[in-house]
Amino acid sequence: MFNNCLVCDNLFNSDHHFSDLIWPNFKNNPLCQECRNKIELLSGEKCEDCGRVTSEKICQDCLYWRKKFDFSLSNHSLICYNDWMKKFMHQYKFVGDYRLRLVFLEKLSDKFKNTIIKSDFVIPIPISKKTLQIRGFNQVTGLFDFARSRMSTKILQVKPKEQLSKLNRRQRLKKENLFYLTGSSIENKSVLLLDDVYTTGTTLHQTAAVLYEAGAKKVNSITLAR
Ligand SMILES: [Zn+2]
Ligand SMILES: [Zn+2]
Repeated sequence: MFNNCLVCDNLFNSDHHFSDLIWPNFKNNPLCQECRNKIELLSGEKCEDCGRVTSEKICQDCLYWRKKFDFSLSNHSLICYNDWMKKFMHQYKFVGDYRLRLVFLEKLSDKFKNTIIKSDFVIPIPISKKTLQIRGFNQVTGLFDFARSRMSTKILQVKPKEQLSKLNRRQRLKKENLFYLTGSSIENKSVLLLDDVYTTGTTLHQTAAVLYEAGAKKVNSITLAR
């Protein structure tokens, strides 16, 4: 059977059940061979804080974060955020192809289900109501669908953008933390944050800061890409 690749749209023969490092048991092949070849699993020596591949124990960016905040994150990611992965995320988030959430589901589950089980709270990074309206789904809960029953989606909330746009740039930087907590106490609990991509680290540091302020014992994070 011929199918169109969900990322590049090329027509390809999807008959072969493929077995490779990335998806040993995946039944339906949603990506062409060319796209699959561009997926880079993160491996080797990594920064202890952000999980990027580097020979430095703590990378330069994370040294900056450690100065800015009085904690350090422990982030783990699965895939290198290369050009192909940028295309994948664009197709998933902005074109809105919700089927793409399935591509890395099995691999994410294999690698992280134990971490997820061991955490007291598993919190996906929220998106604003407006973004949810436009996109129709939260890309993070989609990617980590296998862990949905463990997710607390109400505790962490994101401020609406309008609220911030009234402020000038300086006030904005001061009040830059976009996140706040509601409901359940996370005091003395371990929290695992889930996100789609670790880029600058701003989102995860902001959310971790809010959680630590509320008494969290330890905050770790997992992202699909880094
Ligand atoms: Zn393709
Ligand atoms: Zn780092």
